[in-house]
Amino acid sequence: MGIYSHKFCLCIRAWKLPGYNKNMKTNIYLDVDGVLVTKGGSITNHAPSFIEYVLTNYPDTTYWLTTHCNGDASKPIKNIGHLFDEKTVEYMKQIKPTSWDTAKTRAIDISLPFLWFDDNLFFEEKQTLLEQNLLDNWIEVDLGKNPNQLADFISSFPIPVNYPTDRH
Ligand SMILES: [Mg+2]
Repeated sequence: MGIYSHKFCLCIRAWKLPGYNKNMKTNIYLDVDGVLVTKGGSITNHAPSFIEYVLTNYPDTTYWLTTHCNGDASKPIKNIGHLFDEKTVEYMKQIKPTSWDTAKTRAIDISLPFLWFDDNLFFEEKQTLLEQNLLDNWIEVDLGKNPNQLADFISSFPIPVNYPTDRH
């Protein structure tokens, strides 16, 4: 709860920063393992509702950011689609691919507001975000700590911090 509250506060503060434009498109980057699917290979709590929420609100700017993808948006669906209901799979079909090597941050367009839902950060990824003052746009998913965290995101969706107009 501690980390989540901290991030929640930062996100709320973003509304008050000068230059924030609510109409600015936010890119959503979604990891799969540890976010939508457990290590044991079953869907995580509230994953279908979370996917529905994200694709309803960000239908054109949601991306797979997972080793399952590698440039092909149909691959994650081939890998995990069978775990989900048809409606959720239809939403998943709207998710765009990313292609990256070594570090997921290489696929993130840091010139635009973004939220990256992931359970894990590697060294280079963390360093990149820190250097750009964008670490708070990594939304740490820790379902071990809070198994219902995806439902919390639906009721209080994060807002990206430090969008380009505030950066110098
Ligand atoms: Mg993961």
